[in-house]
Amino acid sequence: MKDWNALASALYDGSFRPMFINGKWCPAQSGAEMDARNPANGSLLATVPEGGAADIDAAVKSARAAFEGPWAKFTPFERQALLLRIADKFEAEWERLCLSDTLDMGMPIQRTLANSRRVLGMLRFYAGQAVMIHGQTIPNSFPGEIYSSTVREPVGVVGAIIPWNAPIAGSVWKIAPALATGCTVVLKPSEEASLTVLMIARLMQEAGLPDGVLNVVTGLGADAGAALAAHPDVDKIVFTGSTATGQAIARAATGTLKRVSLELGGKSPVIVCKDADIDKAVPVAAMSVFANSGQICIAGSRLFAAREIHDEFTRRVAEFAAGLKIGQGIDEGTDIGPIISARQAERIAGFLSDGPAEGATVLTGGQRAEGAALEGGHFIQPTVFGGVTDDMRIAREEIFGPVISALPFDDLDEVVARANDTPYGLAAGVFSTNLGTAHKLAHRLKAGSVWVNMYHAIDPAVPFGGVKMSGYGREGGTEHLEEYLDTKAIWINAD
Ligand code: NAD
Repeated sequence: MKDWNALASALYDGSFRPMFINGKWCPAQSGAEMDARNPANGSLLATVPEGGAADIDAAVKSARAAFEGPWAKFTPFERQALLLRIADKFEAEWERLCLSDTLDMGMPIQRTLANSRRVLGMLRFYAGQAVMIHGQTIPNSFPGEIYSSTVREPVGVVGAIIPWNAPIAGSVWKIAPALATGCTVVLKPSEEASLTVLMIARLMQEAGLPDGVLNVVTGLGADAGAALAAHPDVDKIVFTGSTATGQAIARAATGTLKRVSLELGGKSPVIVCKDADIDKAVPVAAMSVFANSGQICIAGSRLFAAREIHDEFTRRVAEFAAGLKIGQGIDEGTDIGPIISARQAERIAGFLSDGPAEGATVLTGGQRAEGAALEGGHFIQPTVFGGVTDDMRIAREEIFGPVISALPFDDLDEVVARANDTPYGLAAGVFSTNLGTAHKLAHRLKAGSVWVNMYHAIDPAVPFGGVKMSGYGREGGTEHLEEYLDTKAIWINAD
């Protein structure tokens, strides 16, 4: 087993980590700093700049200059080569990157390490796409006289704002397609988890990224984030985070009518039919929520189980949950790491008391997790509530913690209506051994992704995103490139 603790103390020693603007590593213009603490034990990992509007402005200027200057001269093949070099660099530094994420936001090391295929795949997938972007020659009403064609052009300067729950994948998913299309980026990581994003910028610089093509401004959402969303010289905002912040960003963007795409929250249903393979479904349904301590946008937090199997199924999910090991993310045996912050743990604890107060039964968990090994951290027991009804707060609101609400159902029409009765539409899961049932449910559920007899699969080549208040726009696949491209029509009079 690796000595992650020794590697951790070599990685972060409490010292200042500057942010990245125009290829330079700098403090905030105001000199303000924020602490980056390990949510598993409260220790200080580093301090980072608390950037504000002036830093965002400098970063946008640098991104604009790069977009109109040297970066515009990069050929598609050169952008492809750069993305491939970045992928190789990440692969060589993968353990350090993952350890950084584990320390900074708590995700168990086994899970951060396991994300490699997807993240390295994203970089290589978009490297491939960089040379595939092209317009069309389109026949018009004046054959032989006038020729019409289209070219695809990068939208320009992209402002990217991301949450704290998956910094490596979250930032690479924004940056890789932007670089493939020829855009430049100003990225604002979450104030809760900036360190890995700074490391990513450093690795990209080492791989040959030209100055200004990627800028990382660390800072608070209401300050640096809001300044980026409203900045008049940003052409496009790509945002991942809560629905409330997504709404604020969409409002801020109206001033300049900049394009926006939003990956927001969810309250995703998992439907377990009476003919499901229960042995296979139990761990998948449980981990659809408990992975990353429930801090996942696609968490299948409403567990609809057919009445015939409901009691057995929920009992087994609860048993599975009770067997999960809670601990420091850096411990290889940990299944459930910490919650990101005291504020977030407090919010989840509110739902833990609301459930029983509204009449739900605790099947397992229901408390904060405490103990000597968890000292100084914010931990919540994986929790399964039974006896839940659709109107309860735990069944309606996104908890973003390790909490499952189990609900029985009687027939398919009923469960489809209840599953869709939410403002969200990010994801859904279906467990059935009947192909017809699986097909019907997959088509009738209002969600950006539906997984059948599985959950959580996200692939660089497959589009991901939400409907309704889970947002709009798609990340992943060739559809993602559309978010970063404009189409120009060119008409030529041959006379
Ligand atoms: P959040 O909305 O609080 O913050 C996300 C980012 O927005 C942070 O960088 C924050 O600093 C910034 N921000 C906050 N206020 C802002 C403002 N007024 N203007 C501009 N930027 C602002 O979300 P969070 O708590 O960091 O993350 C959890 C949420 O993210 C959950 O709702 C979760 O479902 C969602 N999420 C969605 C996806 C997805 O792909 N759909 C993925 C991960 C997380």
